[in-house]
Amino acid sequence: MSLQNPVFIPGPTNIPEALRKACDMPTVDHRSSLFAEILQPALAGVKQVLKTRKGEVVIFPATGTGGWEAALANTLSPGDMVLAGRNGMFSHRWIDMCNRFGLEIEVLDHGWGEGLSAERYRAALRSDTGHKIKAVLATHNETATGVVSNIAAIRAALDAVEHPALLLVDGVSSIGSMDFRMDDWGVDIAVTGSQKGFMMPAGLSIVGISQKALKHMDAAALPRCFFDFRDMLNGYANNGYPYTPNVGLLNGLKLATGMLLDEGLEHVFDRHTRIASGVRAAVTGWGLHLCAQRPEWQSDTVSAILVPDGFNATDIVTRAAEVYGTAFGTGLGEVAGKVFRIGHLGMLTEGMALQGIATAEMVMADHGVPITLGSGVAAAQEVYRGHLGAALQIAAE
Ligand SMILES: *Cc1c(COP(=O)(O)O)cnc(C)c1O
Repeated sequence: MSLQNPVFIPGPTNIPEALRKACDMPTVDHRSSLFAEILQPALAGVKQVLKTRKGEVVIFPATGTGGWEAALANTLSPGDMVLAGRNGMFSHRWIDMCNRFGLEIEVLDHGWGEGLSAERYRAALRSDTGHKIKAVLATHNETATGVVSNIAAIRAALDAVEHPALLLVDGVSSIGSMDFRMDDWGVDIAVTGSQKGFMMPAGLSIVGISQKALKHMDAAALPRCFFDFRDMLNGYANNGYPYTPNVGLLNGLKLATGMLLDEGLEHVFDRHTRIASGVRAAVTGWGLHLCAQRPEWQSDTVSAILVPDGFNATDIVTRAAEVYGTAFGTGLGEVAGKVFRIGHLGMLTEGMALQGIATAEMVMADHGVPITLGSGVAAAQEVYRGHLGAALQIAAE
């Protein structure tokens, strides 16, 4: 694997040089006032990225998976019922975690390649007249299949039947790269990690909590200690942590949120839509298809590409790594061997995306996949040229 090539896995993502430097700090006493100057702007920046004014943010030294655990443990009690959609490996793993916590689960199974159906959530919530369901789980962007789901529609499903359950959302591979509106969508807990849209190394579990979710903390009886929101929030009130924070990563997060906000969140989202459109054009140019079955489900942060019958997608990923020093994502679970994934989230430019597309073409050609060299690159170039030309023109004016 060459360290000079960008990675095209859907997390961890490429780390901008400035962020690498920001994470590399001498030891800072986390009980000093200097720590407050790192912690508070990082928390404030995350709130802006999550688009929450009313909610709180807590950050654990962990990963997205820790955020899932914190979301469940701070809001639910053993035996509580959750309603969860499953349409890929990540939504499946969150359901598995609910199982291990002894929760009752009503699973809404979808095809791997389908978006979560708000209609099915609504039907399930409507029949729960006794309000046994305490939390609704949804994965905003299913990284295994490259499928985005409409969280606003799931909120509308809860509201339509006046169901009081909390809405817990996995935004690990969307937040910071795709629009996410915690307050507008009535998200009660939003979960992400540092190594995807925030463009950093892994190590921070980033969790947004609504005022409504905060009210469930004391009654929630699932066991927790390290992940207790209350200890963390008490710590923050005094600019501190209940244990030793990873100060360097928090310093990186302060800069990462600043970078996203300076670029402008809407511009960041547009950039991801544009880069993803180029990748999708390349897939069409190759004569291949995405795992995402409908255009509205196509993710702007990861494309899962179906390989033709008779080819093993995992071999493509292996060869890309061994021969071209380039990392793509393999297929997971039900789509293992059937798809390879191009991650296009975080710090990525059109030029970098073209490198990934060109490399994928070489690997597929090596394996005898019937594609024409240059066909994907050319299709993506057509998408990128127009936009880049327009941007340059604006800059020149
Ligand atoms: C990466 C990812 C996770 C897991 O996050 P970790 O930081 O690896 O624990 C969970 N959900 C989704 C959608 C992801 O993409």
